[in-house]
Amino acid sequence: MLTVPGLCWLCRMPLMLSHWGICSVCEKAITPPRGCCPQCGLSASSLFLPCGRCLRRPPPWQALVAVCPYIPPVSRLVHQFKFSRRSQLAQPLARLLLLAILRARRTRALPPVEMIVSVPLWSRRHWRRGFNQSDLLCRPLARWLKCDYNPAALRRTRPTATQHQLSARLRKQNLKQAFQLEFPVAGRHIAIVDDVVTTGTTVAELSRLLLRSGVASVQVWCLCRTL
Ligand SMILES: [Zn+2]
Ligand SMILES: [Zn+2]
Repeated sequence: MLTVPGLCWLCRMPLMLSHWGICSVCEKAITPPRGCCPQCGLSASSLFLPCGRCLRRPPPWQALVAVCPYIPPVSRLVHQFKFSRRSQLAQPLARLLLLAILRARRTRALPPVEMIVSVPLWSRRHWRRGFNQSDLLCRPLARWLKCDYNPAALRRTRPTATQHQLSARLRKQNLKQAFQLEFPVAGRHIAIVDDVVTTGTTVAELSRLLLRSGVASVQVWCLCRTL
């Protein structure tokens, strides 16, 4: 897709504020996940209480915020952002996430966090892609929400196979001790920012690492939550 600065990424109409990237009409048409569990983000009957799955086997994080499920048009933008290296999409996508976070604070009393962390890429993948999509989302979010962000807080200690090719058991094994914390986090309320959360294995592994290191709570913020 051709990028024309000042036009909406979705409908190509001129924008009032060009750095928003997505016009207010398109933004309103992006449907937030309806009836989803506040903890795992999967479909559920209550927006306020953890679903049956979370009651039986809660994920290691306390709350999850997603802009929408992995469906067009956001899925298309996320794909372009990541695989067609459209880093200009970082700010418009981060803004959609900001709006989802602010909405969750209003509607379901999501508590604020003091610090956000990005999901680290293995150095060679980072080098090949030229950027880390999670880091590019964190930068404007930290500014807008006035919370701390240290891009080097988490480090990947070894390369890991691409998660989506693996079974649930292998995903877990694949990520075992794949991350290391490089920054003091004890007692802090933290959010992990990722582009897409699918099975949640990566954010679960990071949550456990943060909790072992003494954080007070962990939230997961993502553009799309899917299974
Ligand atoms: Zn538009
Ligand atoms: Zn749940």
